[in-house]
Amino acid sequence: MAKICLCLTGKTLARNLEVLEKYRKYIDVAELRVDLLDPDERFLIRRFPEMAGIPVILTIRRDVDGGVFNSGEGSRVHLFSRGLAFAEADRRKNFAYMDLEEDLNVPSLEEAARTFSTRIIRSFHNIRGMESDIAGKIKSLVRAGDELPKVALAPQSIGDVLSIFQAAGETAGMDKILLGMGPFGLCTRILAERLGSYMTYTSAAGEWDSLPAAPGQLDPVQMAEFYRFRTITDATKIFAVTGYPLKVSDSPKIFNTVFALENADAVYLPIPSDNLAAFMSLADIIGLSGVSVTVPYKEEVLHHCAHKAAELEDIGACNTIVRFLHGWLGVNTDTKGFSESLLAFIKERSFKGKKITVIGAGGAARAVLWELHRQKARVLVLNRNPSRARDLAALYRFKWGGLDSQGSELMEKYSQIIVQATSAGMEGHETRDPLELYKFRGNEVVMDLIYRPEMTQFLSRAAAAGCRVINGRNMLLRQAQYQYKEFMGKELPDQILDRVVF
Ligand code: NAP
Repeated sequence: MAKICLCLTGKTLARNLEVLEKYRKYIDVAELRVDLLDPDERFLIRRFPEMAGIPVILTIRRDVDGGVFNSGEGSRVHLFSRGLAFAEADRRKNFAYMDLEEDLNVPSLEEAARTFSTRIIRSFHNIRGMESDIAGKIKSLVRAGDELPKVALAPQSIGDVLSIFQAAGETAGMDKILLGMGPFGLCTRILAERLGSYMTYTSAAGEWDSLPAAPGQLDPVQMAEFYRFRTITDATKIFAVTGYPLKVSDSPKIFNTVFALENADAVYLPIPSDNLAAFMSLADIIGLSGVSVTVPYKEEVLHHCAHKAAELEDIGACNTIVRFLHGWLGVNTDTKGFSESLLAFIKERSFKGKKITVIGAGGAARAVLWELHRQKARVLVLNRNPSRARDLAALYRFKWGGLDSQGSELMEKYSQIIVQATSAGMEGHETRDPLELYKFRGNEVVMDLIYRPEMTQFLSRAAAAGCRVINGRNMLLRQAQYQYKEFMGKELPDQILDRVVF
């Protein structure tokens, strides 16, 4: 079972012990980052393993490898020696591991490590990018039989993540530490067991004085409790949400909370992907069981579905794929998620005859329009790129327009309900308002599909004018309930979903 390591990045040993104590039950190993200690503290490191009471890695990271040590190799070797110099035969008092970079060749240090049963981690870091032959690099690092090779890379794309998983396959059965840093690398950290990585690294990023030791590290609680790292085995069902840039998604929160409450052998990861085809290859290598698909791939993903729910061709957008027979089955759960949440809000049973404006012509708008057509609403579609609104409206003989004064005028006749289905106003782009020209009268019902932030600029303007407003949170929960059924083959009771706290 892969271990959880906590990188200790405090300036003093006492502070590091305090942090270690806080996370003790979630971790198996600690890494003492000597390069981050105050200079005086560095003389005391030999005592640390005994104080820690768990296996400790002795690491003195140079600036070129992502650390801060820049006093030269002579002083670094001297410090390493200090860590081992007075080590005793009692293994619990010694550093269990010592991280030596591949280009640090000091036979006396290696000899001392072996004498004191300190296992050498032979590491290679590229904090800016990748390595052309990752499997070759892993194999080349091992000099003596008991050395543990470590390769840490900085994937810049989902294709890079794919090559890390491919290298893991090529080195299956070999003891190694393999990981990707940064936002793309997150899944390599959580799926360390699947990668065949000996351990995963975490840091106490939430502590007031701790730095994440490397970009993309989770804290031990997130790793052990939220992603239930220690329960992930080859049998665990793995689900994911993908999109790009995927900075905002509450789906991991929903599914991981529910899986934990149900004690299901399943985990749900955010996997940002800048290229859907590469993501689909990764999904095969990891063996993903199902995926929630979000901006901007809801239309493109249809090309990867071998099987489609009957309505999917009409909708032209898919937000859920599930592994089925020899390919992916595509489904859309946004449709019911949207209508059920909005109908519950207006306390009606159908949209029949209602005059509704939908802003947007992307994947989410497609699901909304299909549902409104099914329920016989009278609809106006407005979009920044009006030709997309025109093409979409033509499918259902709806009216259409652009996000301009003409569009605002057309809305006069279609504004009992206004549905905002663009990504303008999402977290990170809060100041955007897709239709500043429209002046709310106050008697419209306004729904914004965005749920982070809770109130977009658009929704705030509507509320200020007296409109009844609803954001996309309830839609997200309802569509997730349908998604759960596709993923797990059974219903998700409301009482369990209600326990998800945001
Ligand atoms: P998408 O396929 O990428 O479509 C994006 C849409 O937004 C297009 O109509 C695009 O117009 C428009 N747009 C983007 N930036 C704009 C701007 N600055 N001003 C005006 N229009 C802009 O995305 P999607 O999958 O449809 O998702 C749209 C939004 O719905 C996202 O915020 C997503 O989080 C939300 N959503 C929420 C739920 C939920 O459960 N609550 C479910 C699905 C989606 P052009 O065609 O002119 O580019």
